[in-house]
Amino acid sequence: MNKNDGIRVNVKHIVEEGLPITGNLPPSIFDIGESDRLDSPNPLAYDLVASLTAHDILVRGTLRTTLRCRCDRCLRYFDHLVENSDVCLFYEEVTDDFLDLTEDVREEILLGFPQKCLCVPDCRGLCPECGHNLNVRHCHCPAPVGAPSAFDKLDGLDL
Ligand SMILES: [Zn+2]
Ligand SMILES: [Zn+2]
Repeated sequence: MNKNDGIRVNVKHIVEEGLPITGNLPPSIFDIGESDRLDSPNPLAYDLVASLTAHDILVRGTLRTTLRCRCDRCLRYFDHLVENSDVCLFYEEVTDDFLDLTEDVREEILLGFPQKCLCVPDCRGLCPECGHNLNVRHCHCPAPVGAPSAFDKLDGLDL
């Protein structure tokens, strides 16, 4: 990562009312590796305020980015907003002239990355038999063994 891509705060610039720190970090900050199911093509937007009490620095605010996800069930691609509006970083006894927030800010947003990627919470996924997207409509494949459904009974009828 380029050194200029981080968030470095000049401690002397932090005034009593708080110093606004806003901007974007490039997508390379996430460094989450190659993944089919999760990509981070967008910058990390930060909107923070740093305040100083004695030698302690408090940084609060909001972080936001939009991920490109692939649904674990139906394999559809969708955008997923990750927002942490409750950022609260505390630095005790800061004696350096500059404070580097980059790594902490990165960790704060990574906490909000989804463990599961679902396009909608109750995505029905794909039929394991024919691959049809069951969110669109039902297919007529028999339900997999161990998961009986109302369709089994209909299929069993000899009409
Ligand atoms: Zn889905
Ligand atoms: Zn099917």
